[in-house]
Amino acid sequence: MTEKKLAFIDKNLSELKETGLLITIRTIQSAQGAWLVVDGKRVLNFCSNNYLDLANHPDLKRAATAAIDKYGVGPAGVRSIAGTLDLHVQLEERLAKFKNVEAVIALQSGFNANLAVIPALTDKGDIIISDELNHASVIDGVRLSKADRGIYKHCDVADLKVQLDAAKAKKHSKILVITDGVFSMDGDIAPLDQITEVCEASDALLMVDDAHGEGVLGRGGRGIVDHFKLHNRVDIEIGTLSKAFGVVGGYVAGRKVLIDYLHQRSRPFLFSSATTPADTAACIAGVDLLERSTPQVEKLWENTHYFKSKLIKLGFNTGRSATPIVPVMLGEAPLAQKFSKRCFEEGVFAMAIGYPTVPQGKARIRTMISASHSKADLDQGIKTYEKVGKELKVI
Ligand SMILES: *Cc1c(COP(=O)(O)O)cnc(C)c1O
Repeated sequence: MTEKKLAFIDKNLSELKETGLLITIRTIQSAQGAWLVVDGKRVLNFCSNNYLDLANHPDLKRAATAAIDKYGVGPAGVRSIAGTLDLHVQLEERLAKFKNVEAVIALQSGFNANLAVIPALTDKGDIIISDELNHASVIDGVRLSKADRGIYKHCDVADLKVQLDAAKAKKHSKILVITDGVFSMDGDIAPLDQITEVCEASDALLMVDDAHGEGVLGRGGRGIVDHFKLHNRVDIEIGTLSKAFGVVGGYVAGRKVLIDYLHQRSRPFLFSSATTPADTAACIAGVDLLERSTPQVEKLWENTHYFKSKLIKLGFNTGRSATPIVPVMLGEAPLAQKFSKRCFEEGVFAMAIGYPTVPQGKARIRTMISASHSKADLDQGIKTYEKVGKELKVI
């Protein structure tokens, strides 16, 4: 009986397979770094969000181990009842200082941070205006709100302004504009300075999801608000601790009154357990490290410029990338899958990304550059891309 009821899933999976959109999930059997053991094979890692090489950093590991010794392994509760450790409070204070904001609330993930803030701040009678390429967690956060919705063309400030004017004419009680800081599939940067200006002119709340800007943009990796020097002008910043910080977790940064309100109203905070002592302590060590020194951020950008310029010289199309996210645009999903498979055979782990993560016909290989890569690693990656690119007649 069950089998029959689930037949629709079989059909859907076959369809994904036929269209080259079935995702192959590979298993990693080693620590994070420039090289991984994946499905039993040692490969060069072009997939991880481990921008600053902190995921296996001795300082973070030491902090995590010490936290386990002192606090044990589990948080044992949601934060509002009995799950808030002094470590969570410390992390929030340290992040607030790092981001130059009044206060921070830490959550289990960046995904949860979006679900925490968007429905808590908006209601019936309001409108949320969102960039068309915003992250899935922003989209889901918007879906959880009773507010009206508008979508503006990707990074198009003129279109955003048209929609802001229309929203004002309709007398919505509140307008919330949301943009990713760095767009995760193209690696382009939102024009946050111009977006801030049009939001200010319309009295709209502005929220930026800085998951891929954290540790990458701004002084010492302080993010997109620092990059554009917009301190105190962006109402809500979302951050993740699962990318550049190399651990897991997410947070919301802004005015104290905003964070006080989220303690009362954000559902992932109120109804889901906190991050573990080990994770939280490792995140604090990550903030320590970034506050102390920035060679990782510099190396990340050096690697990015080197890798991207070589690819472009070879004739690859890296799209709109302005950050360490370097897509190699290939078009059709089966070609991207073939490219990824051939790279893997040649010892390079680079994932193909297709619909629905990116629009139909915009499939690509998404290369993630990191501070962990040596120049020799990058050269090897470039050589492999060149070989596979010629073989598949991409260049
Ligand atoms: C990765 C990402 C998230 C999710 O962060 P997690 O901490 O992995 O849950 C949210 N928003 C954006 C823009 C992201 O790129």
